[in-house]
Amino acid sequence: MSKTKSFAAYNKDETIRAMSSSGGIFYVIAQKILSESGIVFGAAFDSEWQVHHEACNSIQDLHRIMQSKYVQSSMGDTYTNVREALVSRKKVLFCGTPCQVAGLISFLRSTVKGDEWKELLLTIDFICHGVPSRMVWRRYLKEVSEYKKITNINFRDKTNGWRNFGLRIDFDNGDSYIQSQHKDPYMRGFLNNLYLRESCYECGFKGVERESDFTIADFWGVHELLPDFFDDKGTSIVLAHNDRAIRILEAVSDKVNLCEIQNDVVVQTNSPIVKSVSRNSKRDSFFAREDGKTISELIVRNLHKPLLKRIKRKIVKTLHF
Ligand SMILES: Cc1cc2nc3c(=O)[nH]c(=O)nc-3n(C[C@H](O)[C@H](O)[C@H](O)COP(=O)(O)OP(=O)(O)OC[C@H]3O[C@@H](n4cnc5c(N)ncnc54)[C@H](O)[C@@H]3O)c2cc1C
Ligand code: SF4
Repeated sequence: MSKTKSFAAYNKDETIRAMSSSGGIFYVIAQKILSESGIVFGAAFDSEWQVHHEACNSIQDLHRIMQSKYVQSSMGDTYTNVREALVSRKKVLFCGTPCQVAGLISFLRSTVKGDEWKELLLTIDFICHGVPSRMVWRRYLKEVSEYKKITNINFRDKTNGWRNFGLRIDFDNGDSYIQSQHKDPYMRGFLNNLYLRESCYECGFKGVERESDFTIADFWGVHELLPDFFDDKGTSIVLAHNDRAIRILEAVSDKVNLCEIQNDVVVQTNSPIVKSVSRNSKRDSFFAREDGKTISELIVRNLHKPLLKRIKRKIVKTLHF
């Protein structure tokens, strides 16, 4: 019998929820650890708008490591810094991809004596689609920003709702680039698996049961399955993998709306929890053929499906309904 319990959830604080990619569940757990003088590690942008993991010691700085960044986050010295904090008996919350969490736990097992660290470390991973190549992000950003100074990036802008999220980039001259996930070339390439890291197509970190304490994700089917929890502002799925995770959810229950759901519902509505996404058949040609094209042109060209194929797909889809 599975120990994992699944919940639909969202933060009651509307401001936090609006700032978060999904329902703001990461924030509420991080807030608890910080209130106990702990340290929280998560993914932040650097001055070049690349992504790396960093430590956060205060609620004022938490915004830096909130929100999904759809690019691979570099670890740098993070594992060593987590170990130092644990050895000095600090509580630590680490949030990252399932492979980053598994890597951290394996690193600590082999380098820290005793078991005390296990009590002090709390981990959150997420249902993971995969991480795109840093090179593609770097080139895309140069193109889309036209070398203007960037002041903020949000991969999950909710201006047009949580379900129809978009990529938003703000510039210091007051301009903003806001484009839907269905139209922005970078997001289209990401969601169509054109340039994920090779290992993401055969990921070894899938499954409902995890070594992490929590798994968080978007509850994409919520509008049909649990309409009371849907207002298009962001509803999360949170999986609590052990008793300690359940106790934490109970402790923050005044700050979140929670409703238990079946684990099967999570698998049905969010398949990347159990299986890797398919490798796009154009991945090799995308990376091999430049032809002097911009990265946006390369993405769009490699996602283009000939008219005959599109008609065939439409017919197959119609027959299935
Ligand atoms: C690369 C990636 C792929 C994802 N794939 C899916 C998916 O297929 N299905 C799904 O339902 N959800 C997926 N998610 C999770 C989803 O986007 C939300 O992050 C999640 O629902 C939590 O939302 P929140 O509002 O609680 O937290 P948020 O405030 O949005 O916090 C997100 C947390 O993720 C961490 N994080 C952000 N970017 C990265 C990164 N690049 N690498 C490591 N850690 C990071 C942050 O530090 C923060 O702790 C993915 C997230 C990422 C980063
Ligand atoms: S899909 Fe798997 S290998 Fe790729 S980043 Fe996510 S957990 Fe890691």
